[in-house]
Amino acid sequence: MLDTAQSLIRRAGRQLNLSDEDIEQILKINAEHIFEIKLSSGKSLQAYRVQHNNKLGPYKGGIRFHPHVDLDEVRALATLMSMKTAAVGLPLGGGKGGVAVDPRSLSQQELEELSRKYVQYLYPHIGPDKDVPAPDVNTNATIIDWMVDEYTKVSGDTTKASFTGKSVKNGGSLGRDAATGRGGVIALSELLKAKGLVNKGLTYAILGFGNVGSFFATVAANNYPQWRLIAAGDSTASLLDNAGLDAMQLSKLKSAGGHFLGSKQAKQITNDELIGLSVDVLVLAALENAITKDNMAKVKAKIIVEMANGPIDETAHDFLSSKGVIILPDIIANSGGVIVSYLEWVQNRRGENWDEKKVNLKLKRYLTQAVLGVLSVSKELQVDLTEAAFIQAIRRLNS
Ligand code: NAD
Repeated sequence: MLDTAQSLIRRAGRQLNLSDEDIEQILKINAEHIFEIKLSSGKSLQAYRVQHNNKLGPYKGGIRFHPHVDLDEVRALATLMSMKTAAVGLPLGGGKGGVAVDPRSLSQQELEELSRKYVQYLYPHIGPDKDVPAPDVNTNATIIDWMVDEYTKVSGDTTKASFTGKSVKNGGSLGRDAATGRGGVIALSELLKAKGLVNKGLTYAILGFGNVGSFFATVAANNYPQWRLIAAGDSTASLLDNAGLDAMQLSKLKSAGGHFLGSKQAKQITNDELIGLSVDVLVLAALENAITKDNMAKVKAKIIVEMANGPIDETAHDFLSSKGVIILPDIIANSGGVIVSYLEWVQNRRGENWDEKKVNLKLKRYLTQAVLGVLSVSKELQVDLTEAAFIQAIRRLNS
């Protein structure tokens, strides 16, 4: 993953005729905090915070709790965060944190102790003007609320602008839950507008019907009823209905803890079959590396929206691009989350609470500008949208 992120940066840097020295400067990671957290139960956990680049503003990026977390993964995700915040024009840098742990193996008390100890170790290096973490895989508003509380205790800062993704009652922003999915819909609609396709009755499928995928589907159903969701998959199975699935019903099934495997709502297919469907748009909202050399030849979609981070590996990306598939890259398509995180940080700093309409309007403005910018770079330099997004980011970082 780190190799792919760095290779995308090198490619974009060469397009811009940057010197090797300048490219290395962009790749350089500013700081790495690697530490062990000892819980009172005796468990010892490896923890990280990587601060990649803060040229445009404080480091920004989530903290994930996952058994696969390691230094290379956190480095890659921190690097991609710098590219994402720059590509969408936020005054923020890029960072990422993680703890190598399966949170399901921890009791609620251990989870709280872990969250608080993470902050006790890191607090001199983070804060509203230094580094503003957020939730990521397996972390949520409850965990962030504990972290903010701990940060307030140890630092005396009461703005709550030290973290984003807080619960709304604790200074979180309205609209944050849906922001990533909503942002994906905005990004896709801007791409389709540019191609004169937004009002056409297109079909689409979503792989990964979790937070991001389900909000993508429900926001799309409300705003673009002419788009037909014909398939959706979770980690257990996919559902197919050529007449159109009901996004709201699927979303209710998932929020009630249900799975697609065994669901009677539609015909069941495998996730690989979903990837190979003849749809206009394929939305990848599960995990990284969903499309690799093993299944890239199956793809028949004309447009792919990367809602997960790195869902198409480099080989598959180059193969699909050469076939004319348009890939809306992750650093733009899934940036709605960090955009609303930024809006939360601004509200906390100003002591304001905006209504959801205002948050959504600002989200739309940032994303529309970002997509139009990427389309223009792509046309100007005759490069695909992924390369254009990295070029847009690097131009800002290098200005
Ligand atoms: P989530 O855990 O809520 O949802 C993930 C979904 O993917 C679940 O429905 C799960 O069943 C499904 N899934 C897991 N493995 C799968 C597989 N092998 N095949 C098919 N489906 C599978 O997570 P989320 O918050 O929706 O995040 C999804 C992706 O978007 C992640 O890659 C995350 O890093 C990225 N992302 C999330 C946000 C955010 O704000 N939540 C922001 C930016 C990027």
